[in-house]
Amino acid sequence: MPRKDLQPLHIYRLLPRTNCKLCGCPTCYAFAFNLISKNKRLEECPELLKEEFRDSYSALRKMLGEGERIEGSDHVLDRSRCTGCGDCVAVCNRALTTITKGGRLVQRPPVPPALKVIDGRLNVVEWSSCKRSVPGLDICNLCAEKCPFSALDLVKPEEPDEEDS
Ligand code: SF4
Ligand code: SF4
Ligand code: SF4
Repeated sequence: MPRKDLQPLHIYRLLPRTNCKLCGCPTCYAFAFNLISKNKRLEECPELLKEEFRDSYSALRKMLGEGERIEGSDHVLDRSRCTGCGDCVAVCNRALTTITKGGRLVQRPPVPPALKVIDGRLNVVEWSSCKRSVPGLDICNLCAEKCPFSALDLVKPEEPDEEDS
């Protein structure tokens, strides 16, 4: 299943579901949200590391992939896949020049580049330039969509307001 189609319920079903709070989340369901948004790692659930959950742990690792969130952004990068090709940077630089207003594309005031390849890996160098950081702008996914190596993903830092189990 592609990561973008992953729902908290898919994750929750494989968690211990004891709501013990040892991971720092109020419920296992909240932990599932945090896993999808990459604010938590599987290893932060001590229950999941027990032998009895070995199969669930392996299945969850496969579902969630290996990427890590680039701090202060919505970007999740699998460093082992990123070649530093710069395709995402090029598409972003074009995307940054326009915004949609009233269904029409209009020119955006110039902003510094949001992305840059440093030492052969993608970095988010100016999060405030990314359209996703600006409330009211369209949610943009272009950089992740254009990555030829499926190294990049985008997540939202959402958490559930209450348990939904
Ligand atoms: S530590 Fe694991 S079992 Fe406990 S609440 Fe968090 S996700 Fe659930
Ligand atoms: S994230 Fe993808 S598109 Fe961007 S530099 Fe890495 S491999 Fe290239
Ligand atoms: S989400 Fe859009 S604006 Fe933000 S870095 Fe990617 S391409 Fe650029």
